[in-house]
Amino acid sequence: MKLKPRPLHTIIVSSFIALVLLLGFPTYLYINKIHTDQLISDRGAVLRTLAKGTATVLAKNMKERRREVELLAQTPLFVQASLDSKEFDASLARLHRSYAHYSWIGLTDTHGKVLHATNDHLLGTDVSARPWFQHASQEVYVGDLHEAKLLAGLLPNKTHEWPVRFIDFASPVYDESGKLRAVLGAHAHWRWTAEAVSEVMPEGAAKRKIEIFIVNGNNEIIYPDHPEKMPGNPMAPKELKGDDSTFDNWGGKDSYLTTVANVGEPVADGKWPLGWKVMVRQPRSQVLSEVDNLEKDITLGLVAVGLIFISLAWLLGHFISRPIIQLAKIAKQVSGGDETIQFNVSANSRELKELNSAIENMAVTLLARKHALEDANRDLMSTVAERTAELEAANNELRQLARRDTLTGLPNRLAAKEQLLHEFNRMIRSQEPYAVLMMDIDFFKRVNDTYGHATGDAVLTHVATHIQASLRKTDFVGRIGGEEFLVILPMTNHAGAMSIAEKVRAHIESSPVDPVGKVTVSIGVSVAALDQSDAEMAVRQADQYLYKAKQAGRNQVASV
Ligand code: GH3
Ligand code: MG
Ligand code: MG
Repeated sequence: MKLKPRPLHTIIVSSFIALVLLLGFPTYLYINKIHTDQLISDRGAVLRTLAKGTATVLAKNMKERRREVELLAQTPLFVQASLDSKEFDASLARLHRSYAHYSWIGLTDTHGKVLHATNDHLLGTDVSARPWFQHASQEVYVGDLHEAKLLAGLLPNKTHEWPVRFIDFASPVYDESGKLRAVLGAHAHWRWTAEAVSEVMPEGAAKRKIEIFIVNGNNEIIYPDHPEKMPGNPMAPKELKGDDSTFDNWGGKDSYLTTVANVGEPVADGKWPLGWKVMVRQPRSQVLSEVDNLEKDITLGLVAVGLIFISLAWLLGHFISRPIIQLAKIAKQVSGGDETIQFNVSANSRELKELNSAIENMAVTLLARKHALEDANRDLMSTVAERTAELEAANNELRQLARRDTLTGLPNRLAAKEQLLHEFNRMIRSQEPYAVLMMDIDFFKRVNDTYGHATGDAVLTHVATHIQASLRKTDFVGRIGGEEFLVILPMTNHAGAMSIAEKVRAHIESSPVDPVGKVTVSIGVSVAALDQSDAEMAVRQADQYLYKAKQAGRNQVASV
């Protein structure tokens, strides 16, 4: 199948569109990929910063609590005073008031019996089995999160529906000689983490579905409380390094961009390591929705650039094709023979300028040739006309010659025949008869024989002249044989014809010719009738009457 050739402008514009798509699409994919990767890594960095910030706040908080307890145990009251002094109650109460999340602070003897406690809770109770007491008998201690049902039952304003959890800070109390004399312990309510997390949480984090988790050394989620009741039942990912931000599904279906930061240990030298980590996550769909927005922007930008390109292509196509279209139009005009062409093409390249002047030259040459051809044609026509006229004249002359007898100058047999037909037709139209005279010189042979052929010719000329002289201008006389003449008398009846015949005969008889003397003629007369079938019929009749005149003795007129 042969395609119809498309306009140049369309070819240029569609080529540009193809080019834009060909270059634009991979560029779009490339830019999109780079920006997507960049955006995901940026998001990861934001989450990492948040995780690190949270971990720092937690570690700082725990170190402060530990330090408070440690310092209190070293005050002179704790080192020197009698253990049953009321001063201890006031001191413990002061510490309790200094930090809102302390739930209980107490002092035990070296056997684990509670001697002093805030709000007198658990007074006299034996806590020797508790880890905080056991560890703090030797060294400052920070204990992992735990439930304490007994203490929880004593506390007012229960804000949680599930078991209240505490974190323990404890320190040994030594006398001046460095001997253990008591143990100081404090339980801080776990809700302080919620407060710490809300402090570091950036604005709009909830809207962007960013979540913070605290995970203990066993990889169990300890904040928020009761993760098993959260949607998706999240399980903290295990294989996650501090500098990573990676996608993880947290044991569920949805994937999260996740990052982790280790919480600094509250006790120096890793003596009682907690191994806590802060994990921050954001749903993949949320991260990608921000990518989607970016994608939209990139698409719009590229579409705008593409449209600008195509518009430029349209202008370029117009710029290139316009002079070519004009040239094509001019070439068409040239081939159509238009002589009034204006060569005002706005050629915008050297090649087009050359093409323009080539077409212009071609048009000029073609026009010059056309004019030369027209001139030659005109010359030829006039020559032909001249020659035709000359030929016609020659033909006319020929026709005349062919119809004229050279000896007498009279019309010959052919002319007589034509005249007869003409008269016959006229008779049919006008209903007017015509007469025919057949004439023959008597004993002419004798003239030739006696005086020679030249004298015979002279006699013939003499007779011809005298016949003509006896007739009207409108009458016709022709020599139709050796010494035979035919006379046609238009619109003449029998009597008229008889009288003219007689007049001719008499005139010749009375006109002698040297050296022959008297010459006579015999004449047959006939009148053409309307009922006759052809023009020759009257002539045949006249011939018969001529024969009769000869028979009857010659030099006479004969008729019906
Ligand atoms: P008739 O009275 O019966 O007509 O006798 P005639 O001698 O005229 O008859 P014929 O027809 O026998 O003779 C005609 C002669 O005319 C014969 C021929 O030699 C002569 N003739 C015919 N044409 C010419 C011509 O052009 N010039 C000359 N000189 N003689 C001619
Ligand atoms: Mg004769
Ligand atoms: Mg004769």
